[in-house]
Amino acid sequence: MTAAETKTCQNCKQSFIIEPDDFSFYEKMKVPPPAICPDCRFRQRALFRNERTLYHRTCGLCGKKIISAYHPKSPYVVYCVPCFTSDNWDRLSFFLDFDFKKPFFDQLGVLFKKVPKQALYITHGPTNVNSEYINYAGPYIKNSYLVFNSGEGEDVFYSRGIRHCKYSGDLYFATFLENAYECINCHHSSGLSYGQNVTSTVDSLYMLNCSGCTNCFSCVNVRNKKHCFFNEQLAKEEYEKRVKEIRGSYAKTKEAEERFGSFALKFPRRENQNLKAVNCVGDYLTESKNTRYSFEAGECEDCRYAFFSKNMKDSYDTTGYGYQSELLLSTAAVGYSSRVIGSALVSVCRDVEYSFGLESCNNCIGCDGLKNAEFCVLNKRYSEEEYRKIRTHIVEELMRSGVYGLSLPPQVSSFAYNETIGQDNLPLSREEALAQGLGWQDDIQATKGQETMPLEKIPDHINDATPSIVNEIFACEECERNYRIIPAELALYKRLVVPLPRKCFNCRYMNRIKMRGPFTLYDRKCGNCGKSIRTNFAPDRPEIVYCEQCYQAEVA
Ligand SMILES: [Zn+2]
Ligand SMILES: [Zn+2]
Ligand SMILES: [Zn+2]
Ligand SMILES: [Zn+2]
Repeated sequence: MTAAETKTCQNCKQSFIIEPDDFSFYEKMKVPPPAICPDCRFRQRALFRNERTLYHRTCGLCGKKIISAYHPKSPYVVYCVPCFTSDNWDRLSFFLDFDFKKPFFDQLGVLFKKVPKQALYITHGPTNVNSEYINYAGPYIKNSYLVFNSGEGEDVFYSRGIRHCKYSGDLYFATFLENAYECINCHHSSGLSYGQNVTSTVDSLYMLNCSGCTNCFSCVNVRNKKHCFFNEQLAKEEYEKRVKEIRGSYAKTKEAEERFGSFALKFPRRENQNLKAVNCVGDYLTESKNTRYSFEAGECEDCRYAFFSKNMKDSYDTTGYGYQSELLLSTAAVGYSSRVIGSALVSVCRDVEYSFGLESCNNCIGCDGLKNAEFCVLNKRYSEEEYRKIRTHIVEELMRSGVYGLSLPPQVSSFAYNETIGQDNLPLSREEALAQGLGWQDDIQATKGQETMPLEKIPDHINDATPSIVNEIFACEECERNYRIIPAELALYKRLVVPLPRKCFNCRYMNRIKMRGPFTLYDRKCGNCGKSIRTNFAPDRPEIVYCEQCYQAEVA
């Protein structure tokens, strides 16, 4: 077996390691080991995934006003989802003749600007109802608003990474929740507000690393309890009295939140949130084997650097999707596919490279928006023999420039870094993003200065909020961006008796990402047994972190 190799990233100059078993994967994919580090690779893939930055524009085919992930001033023709997925346009009419004398990515950039783009990426469009503002979402989303990377939901707002959730808002990475608010990595619960790493819990608030609880408030590492208040077992009446004093009041909730913050620091955290993950390194991994440096991934085997990917084998550097895929490398939102390199938004394909938005294609390189095609280069159909000749020429060129096996290059991306999930997860300053060629959008749709009610005028208690509050415009206490309270939101706050937020949905979202922790692994020692662990709690953080065995022994 080849020894591990330490390399210096050609992009950011950080050192990174290619592990012994990585070499066999790269050999299998017939690509050289990457010349840039995992973080830079994440950023480049992320450039092809704008989930949350939405704009108003018109459909280039039917002329309707639509919501789109493409900036209205970007050079693209954008079609609404029904137009794009219809056969009312001829995909192969947008093609380029391959020019052996010109660099491949220059030609790909020209093609990408010619081919119409899909306004939003919605799965099984017709199954989603009354949910105009969703992206990377579906199927079966009903009455929902600003929901991303999610499926099967009803009456949900401001959420990401959720499945089977109802009547809820402000969720991040959750399944089977009902009447839930401000939850991160929570599952199979109802009536839960401000929960993190919580399962099977009912009618509880401020819960961290708890399961099987009912009517609990501000608890950490608690299992199967009722009427616990700051981990203290109370009689039902006393519990209700104490909760009633706080619940629903903004000022009292803030106080309790601060008290809970320092209270929670006294209890050990688990090194990660992995479940049934064998020989895995990463966080939020479930039912996976031999998968490393991966986050929010499930049912993965022999994968590396898999993010938000599910049900996938033998793949490296993937962001999103998966679903019975194998041999993916440097992909964003690629699923039901095999042997796909450097591509984004590809479904049910095999042997596809450096392509965007393909469905049911095989043996294509440098294509955009094709359906049921084969042996295409720059959207032009060739004989198999000609195709192989051109493909060999392209691969040799990319090999020579040392980028074969990396993602689609930033130069052909339709998004700026701060529009994408890159900025959410590995943020850069405007100057840094521009210096790395990742682009920056200075004109993101957001209003300021339109507020009709100052935050101090919001009633302290949710019970005092009148229905007309949904007509007011507020200015976020953190970023001053204007935001509103939508009717479904007000109804949820009233049902859960939680105060109206003083922050805009974007700041609330970014706060959840901060609470989730970075997609970075640090070497630390278990706070109990001293064993080496890899965790996303940075060594200088104040939390006590235990290895899995010590944590289980402590809370069992
Ligand atoms: Zn780098
Ligand atoms: Zn249209
Ligand atoms: Zn804000
Ligand atoms: Zn330990």
